[in-house]
Amino acid sequence: MRVLFAISLVFAIVGCCASWTSGEEWVSGKIWEEPPIVTPGECGSPPSDAIILFDGKDLSQWEGGENWKIENGYAIAQKTGITTKEQFGDCQLHLEFATPEVIEGSGQGRGNSGVYLMGRYEVQILDSYENKTYFDGQCGAIYKQHPPLVNASRKPGEWQTYDIIFTGPRFDEAGNLLKPAYVTVIHNGVVVQNHFEIEGSTAWHVPPKYEPHGEKGPIHLQFHGNPVRFRNIWIREIRELTYQQKGQEPEKKEPEKNEAEKAEAEKTEPEKKAENGQNQ
Ligand code: MG
Repeated sequence: MRVLFAISLVFAIVGCCASWTSGEEWVSGKIWEEPPIVTPGECGSPPSDAIILFDGKDLSQWEGGENWKIENGYAIAQKTGITTKEQFGDCQLHLEFATPEVIEGSGQGRGNSGVYLMGRYEVQILDSYENKTYFDGQCGAIYKQHPPLVNASRKPGEWQTYDIIFTGPRFDEAGNLLKPAYVTVIHNGVVVQNHFEIEGSTAWHVPPKYEPHGEKGPIHLQFHGNPVRFRNIWIREIRELTYQQKGQEPEKKEPEKNEAEKAEAEKTEPEKKAENGQNQ
């Protein structure tokens, strides 16, 4: 057995060295577009290509924003939920929230809010610090579908972060589901959802179900009766890079010549010489 292992190891090393010494690099044949340059933010501040949804001053980008109270650079949930006026597809969303410092209620009644992606898929916000509830309804859960992998909640009143990476579902023209939605959630720097396959809507009273919709939708922040605070909300739409397969690049077209350029190109050599002579 040992002899067999030693022989196969020698063959593997020789094979590896042979391809390395042949000097031929493997290339994919994909000619990628250049990744755009983005200047990263510092400590949770937005990167250069982010859309700022709330910078602590106003909620003018949100339907219902006038219902929430703004003070000291944060917004306090009250009266209604709020919904972005703009719609987003696949995205990276950052937000910071704090459940009320003064503890009132228990279970789902304590520090409840939520982030709805495309206005319909809820990442739960709840005070889950020493506050028991059903696991697929605690903070970081995809509501009624999947509990957070761990409970990374900070104490009531402390600022917490969500970084959410979301790929929306795709439907065909007849409304059939082609690809489900996926979500990764990082709560206070800790992965609590890892590319979770969303099963559909996240309602309290009915099972998950996909209803066909477009490739973009709004972000909605829930008001569930508790004065949860929010600050520093920004979003980046995620676009896949494009590439061309080597050997299948589209033919490069010469740029269209204007009338003067066409006339110049059609001149004969004697005509050009004559003109040059006149100009000297
Ligand atoms: Mg909620």
